[in-house]
Amino acid sequence: MRQVANLIGCLATIAVMGMASCSKVVTPQSIISKGERLALNDWDNDSIEIITTGTAGFIIRYKESVLVADPFIGNPSMNKVVSGKIYPDTVYAKSIYNKELLAKAKAVIIGHGHYDHVLDLPAISDELNKDVRVFCNRSVANIVAATSLKDNVVNVESVSGSYSREGEWQYTKDSSIRVMAFKSTHPPHFLGITLYSGDVEAPLSKLPEKANGWKMGLPLTFLVDFMEAGKPVCRIYAQSSACSDSMGLFPAGMMDDKKVDVAFTAAASSKKRLAQLLATVKYVQPRVEIITHWDNFFERITVEQQVKSMAKCDAAKNYQSLEKEYGPAIKVVLPRQGSRFVVAGK
Ligand SMILES: [Zn+2]
Repeated sequence: MRQVANLIGCLATIAVMGMASCSKVVTPQSIISKGERLALNDWDNDSIEIITTGTAGFIIRYKESVLVADPFIGNPSMNKVVSGKIYPDTVYAKSIYNKELLAKAKAVIIGHGHYDHVLDLPAISDELNKDVRVFCNRSVANIVAATSLKDNVVNVESVSGSYSREGEWQYTKDSSIRVMAFKSTHPPHFLGITLYSGDVEAPLSKLPEKANGWKMGLPLTFLVDFMEAGKPVCRIYAQSSACSDSMGLFPAGMMDDKKVDVAFTAAASSKKRLAQLLATVKYVQPRVEIITHWDNFFERITVEQQVKSMAKCDAAKNYQSLEKEYGPAIKVVLPRQGSRFVVAGK
């Protein structure tokens, strides 16, 4: 058993090293957006402010309410991930995240428990609104139990929906945001193996020190509505790891009440997954489609640096395929980490 674990650890090391060493500069750089105003026809609501924070992370503000997704910004090196220890980087995270926005954060959503989706949640925990609710799976809830946010966690696994069945809406304390989770899936990292799968089975008293302690649990996607007078006025779809088939999708009938305004979908790393991504976007029909989880998250991005993608992920092809298929009806965005977008009327 131990030999099998060692072998998997060894293969994981090779896979992760391969990912890092093969990361490449995205060409052409001109398709990477450093932030812009996205003007929509028939947009009568207040503007939406979006900041992409790298990997699958983003922050959205509508009026006085803010949603934070998959907080991960420290980007520990490949060496630390493979054979060292990884920690939330409080100093760095606080220097990057906007304090005013975090103070308005009423909801946090976490797609799954891998470190690259949640490692820096503890780093920003004391900046978040005191009433914030953290919507996540069981594994993440058990990890977050080790932090000051343990009483703010809502495990939504048992109320999550699927392609054929609605889940239950979960509200923030002030009811300005509601969240519905859907059962999803996660693509294998190599040879059909998904690293760090399974659940953290019981509440932790100390954060995991190694990458393999951040166990994935059940991957989730989310519909998030910003509410006014009890009605949804801005709808977000967040899918932070590539789905397959109908996993991660919601019942089509839900779009009769409110269409999706902005979708965040994870970039595809193979031809098959690209076809899946195109099918997902066709189904979700967002007005703005933001491609996430394409950048090399083993190093920090500086202002001058050229942006590199993950190995196997052809970010330019993702962008160009979506743009060719659905633009300009859908505004497709390949965002640089730290970019600020404003969705507004013409
Ligand atoms: Zn993952």
